[in-house]
Amino acid sequence: MMRLPSFGYHAPKDVAEVAKILAGEGPDAMIVAGGTDLYPNMKRRHQTPKTLVSLRHVDDLRGVSMNGSVSIGSNETLRSLEQSGELKARLPALHTAVASISTPQLRNMGTIGGNVCLDTRCNYYNQSWEWRRAIDFCMKCDGETCWVAPSSSICWAVNSSDSVPVFIALGATFTLVGPEGERTIPALEMFGEDGIEYLTKRKDEVLTRIDIPDQGSAQSVYRKVRRRGSFDFPVAAVAARVDLDGDEVKDVSIILNAVGPKPVVCTQAQDVLLGNKLTDDLIEEAAKLAARGAKPLDNTDTVSMWRKKVVQVEVKRALVGLR
Ligand SMILES: Cc1cc2nc3c(=O)[nH]c(=O)nc-3n(C[C@H](O)[C@H](O)[C@H](O)COP(=O)(O)OP(=O)(O)OC[C@H]3O[C@@H](n4cnc5c(N)ncnc54)[C@H](O)[C@@H]3O)c2cc1C
Ligand code: SF4
Repeated sequence: MMRLPSFGYHAPKDVAEVAKILAGEGPDAMIVAGGTDLYPNMKRRHQTPKTLVSLRHVDDLRGVSMNGSVSIGSNETLRSLEQSGELKARLPALHTAVASISTPQLRNMGTIGGNVCLDTRCNYYNQSWEWRRAIDFCMKCDGETCWVAPSSSICWAVNSSDSVPVFIALGATFTLVGPEGERTIPALEMFGEDGIEYLTKRKDEVLTRIDIPDQGSAQSVYRKVRRRGSFDFPVAAVAARVDLDGDEVKDVSIILNAVGPKPVVCTQAQDVLLGNKLTDDLIEEAAKLAARGAKPLDNTDTVSMWRKKVVQVEVKRALVGLR
């Protein structure tokens, strides 16, 4: 049985207290929300924080408000979002993504903020400490070599969050609170190119809120490829949002995830669609262009070349569905 290392534990009651504790404890402290990602990681010694700052009793990080736009507190559980009929009606792509995350039990505990900040994943990393020691660890944790791309200066562990590509496609912003106050950034800016430093936010910043602008007439969809339909991380994922003016595309966003350390914005595919009719031929062309942006490596389940091919299929299905 894998056991947790010992650690200190704070249970603050509001965001100001969270920020104060994080600033005081320094880099050895980590935030824990539902713990469904962090606790298994701690058991495998990927992360060994001396202190955890729990968001469990921080009520001001909960709540969802839906006017024209939608605002979601970071500590809202995946289960409560999944159960919201209004969210399902207003943002079906987000609802699909949330309902596909892990299992019902884990969605009871897991939060949307934890999903956004989910650690990147790799076959050489998501293993027990003993397994990793047998290969002399790897660059992401305790070692020096990247076993996926030995000459690489960056880690290629994969961003496998289901909600993240949808937030980017919907034009969401993330609000962060830290020692220097509050700041709001576009969702895409939260993510870095390296699977080790996969978040651009500072370690002492807490994600407090996710805001999604009014979607107007735009429609969106989320498509997730995974081995097991019951539960599994994505091996490729597509979030697409299209706003049509009659037959013509007036706005479009296609985001891939689980094909690299950072979500991919398919700019070439978007450009070819803008201002044009969603014909079968154009959708085919856009899907091909989108797949070019996917550069999966052999470090998750299934074969990397198959994942690249399946991206093309899933982008096509997403666009046909939205049409
Ligand atoms: C068996 C299994 C299957 C899973 N399947 C999926 C899946 O299919 N798709 C998927 O996307 N995920 C999956 N997960 C991962 C996880 O369950 C979810 O991503 C969940 O949403 C994580 O939320 P949490 O609140 O439990 O995060 P935690 O484990 O508490 O935290 C995760 C990370 O986020 C940080 N963090 C949490 N909240 C904040 C905040 N407000 N501000 C700043 N940092 C914060 C923590 O410090 C930590 O680094 C799975 C996990 C397991 C164990
Ligand atoms: S991509 Fe390389 S450095 Fe990153 S976790 Fe995998 S083996 Fe380690």
